[in-house]
Amino acid sequence: GVVIRGLRKSYGSNEVLKGIDLEVAPGEVVCLIGPSGSGKSTLLRCVNLLEEPTGGAIEVGGREVTDPDLDIDELRRHVGMVFQQFNLFPHLTVLENCTVAQLKVLRRQKAEAERIAQANLDRVGLGALAGRYPDQLSGGQQQRVAIARSLSMDPHLMLFDEPTSALDPETVGDVLAIMRQLADDGMTMLVVTHEMEFARVVADRVVFMDGGVVVEEGPAAQVIGNPQTPRMQDFLKRVI
Ligand code: ATP
Ligand code: MG
Repeated sequence: GVVIRGLRKSYGSNEVLKGIDLEVAPGEVVCLIGPSGSGKSTLLRCVNLLEEPTGGAIEVGGREVTDPDLDIDELRRHVGMVFQQFNLFPHLTVLENCTVAQLKVLRRQKAEAERIAQANLDRVGLGALAGRYPDQLSGGQQQRVAIARSLSMDPHLMLFDEPTSALDPETVGDVLAIMRQLADDGMTMLVVTHEMEFARVVADRVVFMDGGVVVEEGPAAQVIGNPQTPRMQDFLKRVI
């Protein structure tokens, strides 16, 4: 799980995160929603130290991530991240995209890495496309490869930053279905999304951020179905 306490992040004089408290229990799915610029991506990027927090504390799997003794590579090994852009290597096949980090970071044998990659490609429904190159796939298929690639590293936690925002509408559903399956399988997930229906159905809790603070949080049905604050009510009117 993840425990975030009083997280602050500034860029120069611009304070983007102003003391965030947020927890994701093991096996829990938390959806993070909020307007553009509210700090959602920055928060996610602090969890795996793509950004260094200015203040506060973040624990992942019981380890303090800002502990100077922490091995950042070790942390990232256990934290999968899926972005809006899939960032697949264009010159590698789908299978190779899913083995390269296993070989280099986890130092697995090639045969084992390929077996694990193939199993995860099967899991996202792309087992038959392992020999293709990314540009021979739809956007939704590429995003499913990105998920399979992350899963091949055996993460304890998956971070998703608007994974369906860059996709054609007809492929969004496939990606959300894979994420839902992952949630049902018990993966711990922190998901930034504008997909309110996904959040309502899949999330255990929804956290609404605005202006670098958590404005409202609670069970998905409550936060989305019966928002308490004017800011959340206004946000929902604009996204639904
Ligand atoms: P969106 O929904 O558009 O993705 P967001 O909630 O993810 O928005 P962030 O990307 O976290 O928002 O950005 C929050 C604020 O931090 C914005 O004002 C942004 O300009 C600023 N910001 C983000 N990254 C940097 C950076 N590397 N340097 C300076 N400012 C940044
Ligand atoms: Mg963002």
